[in-house]
Amino acid sequence: MKEECGVFGIFNRNKELNVAKLTFYGIFSLQHRGQESAGIAVTSGENILVYRDLGLVSEVFNERILNTLKGNIAIGHVRYSTAGMNSWENSQPILNQFSGGSFALAHNGHIINQDELRERLSSNRAEDKNKRDADSHLICQLIHRSGEEDIEKALEKAVSQLKGAFCLVILTEDRLIGIRDPLGFHPLVLGKVEGGYVISSEDCAFSLINAEYVREIQPGEMVVVDRNGLRSKQILSSKRKAQCIFEYIYFARPDSTVFGENVAVVRERIGQKLAQEHPVEADIVISVPDSGRFAALGYSQASGIPYQEGLVKNPYVTRTFIQPDQIMREHAVKLKLSPISEIVKDKRIIMVDDSIVRGTTSRKLVKLLKNSGAREVHVRISSPPVNFPCHYGIDTPTKEELWATQFSVEQIRQWIEADTLGYVSLDGLLQVFQKNKASDFCTACFSGQYPI
Ligand code: SF4
Repeated sequence: MKEECGVFGIFNRNKELNVAKLTFYGIFSLQHRGQESAGIAVTSGENILVYRDLGLVSEVFNERILNTLKGNIAIGHVRYSTAGMNSWENSQPILNQFSGGSFALAHNGHIINQDELRERLSSNRAEDKNKRDADSHLICQLIHRSGEEDIEKALEKAVSQLKGAFCLVILTEDRLIGIRDPLGFHPLVLGKVEGGYVISSEDCAFSLINAEYVREIQPGEMVVVDRNGLRSKQILSSKRKAQCIFEYIYFARPDSTVFGENVAVVRERIGQKLAQEHPVEADIVISVPDSGRFAALGYSQASGIPYQEGLVKNPYVTRTFIQPDQIMREHAVKLKLSPISEIVKDKRIIMVDDSIVRGTTSRKLVKLLKNSGAREVHVRISSPPVNFPCHYGIDTPTKEELWATQFSVEQIRQWIEADTLGYVSLDGLLQVFQKNKASDFCTACFSGQYPI
């Protein structure tokens, strides 16, 4: 399961302020949502400047580049290529024109009626098929072809044709706009800074730039920030919400508040539920860092079994790391995670992880722990079995490649060579929320009940 994308935007009335630097910090805080490309678009009211490239935020930008991006309105984007290949053309923000001038757009999500839209736009040029195949380019074309001179009207017309998941930040020479799809699949939040406002996929981006959390942008809402302040309009409607429950399990950063609840706190509650549903006698609880950590703490709290750090993660294995050759590939997991023998030796261990997609990592980790002297390894998973692929912006293997669809829990336990294996149940997972109803969530990758 790969994260989707992160979007960020800022408007400041103070034209002397270099908002590109604040945008850099914003997308740097959202790096966990996409590591393939990064970009910033900025304007001071006359024209829009865009700089984007393949790579991590810190690889794409430096002081010299940021100093050339002058302006008081900016948007930023980090990308994982869920639709379209990983090419420079598909990096964002995308610069385009509409009848009233220029705009830049950054998108998080996935549009499911792309084929129908492509046909409608007759976008059959080889160029479109080969390179500019990201659904975000289709959104830009819909805005471009709207014929509206007012960007807000052009956007309303364009997004009313979209089906799927979309959080958009758009910049023109005089305003910043944020839009969330009517089912609210992925998070988009509003913050306040001195002299203006910020919009971000997650509020973990706010603390670094001293922004104050204001509220979530509602499903179907369009928020516009210009020199007169903030305006809001409900432009799309839906009878239900379909918030991605995986944001809590894996995607979002633990210090973020997503759909009104803190991610770390929810993960702890999932761990507590897991301990109630799948108790086992053991000496220590360990996590698969980093996303398993809070669920492991919750398991420890509920079971009374002490939590210890039994695996160490090397944080420097990034996208640009030299890929292991055939001989090394077997040991690839060791590049990232290494057991602490002194802690795991002779222990009965409960290892908490967020999900099992293909089972290969779990199998290698169990082997590593046992080779380091662990007496027993009990694997606990803080999500239900992933049975179905996602169509809303998360990169999942095909149904055939998902282990949970092919094998029973017992067969997977045998394959990963764990002593016991337990997943949190979907009912149990849905019970841990305090501000959201079960029906507010998309759970399609577990249940197969697709909201669209
Ligand atoms: S299918 Fe799963 S990963 Fe995709 S949006 Fe729904 S809950 Fe999230």
